[in-house]
Amino acid sequence: MSHGQRNAAPHGLSDLRAAGNVDARPGAFAPSAGRGVPAWLAATLNYCSRCGAALRLGPLPAEDRDRLACEACGYIAYVNPRLVVTTLPVNEAGEVVLLRRGIEPGRGLWAQPGGFMEIDETVHEGAIRETFEETGLIVEPGEVVGLYTRPEAAIVVIAFVARIVGGAPTVTPEALEVRPFSPDAIPWPEIAFRTTEWALRDWVRRIRPDLEPDARDRQAPRG
Ligand SMILES: [Zn+2]
Repeated sequence: MSHGQRNAAPHGLSDLRAAGNVDARPGAFAPSAGRGVPAWLAATLNYCSRCGAALRLGPLPAEDRDRLACEACGYIAYVNPRLVVTTLPVNEAGEVVLLRRGIEPGRGLWAQPGGFMEIDETVHEGAIRETFEETGLIVEPGEVVGLYTRPEAAIVVIAFVARIVGGAPTVTPEALEVRPFSPDAIPWPEIAFRTTEWALRDWVRRIRPDLEPDARDRQAPRG
């Protein structure tokens, strides 16, 4: 994959956030698309994790954008998004179970269960694990509702529709409240994350197209 053009040689970590290539697609849903590594993440990338020498940002052979590399040992510190595995647990009444977050970010607001995928599990295992940890519900992940990018957070969020097959809604420090919502009663103004809103809107659009939950599409440029 090669698109965009290399920016003029940045020379330090302070330039890292501006060093990315511009994606060909409009960043309608991702305001920071094409802006390189987010500043908060760049601030953690100072030294080679293999030998401890300083990393330097610059062009490398066969790379289509500037990379952080170690001049001492040649190690290239690639910076890639992490996957967040989430579910929309649906009960027998066709309601989606959300949790009111007990921790920041988004404390007090509603989100679907989910979290970072661990290195030794599949996406399904991660989705099941996170859902149980945060809600006490045992689920069987089904179809993927959507896959959503948040470049500013360096994450990709996958959302499965999931059938609840066991467990019981459980309040934890992470979840102040766990309760179901029917598709026409989703608390839109109190949703914690844009990715939660997108996933819920895509789910509602599938099962209740009459609710027309596609405000974000109407705002996006058509092409
Ligand atoms: Zn090194």
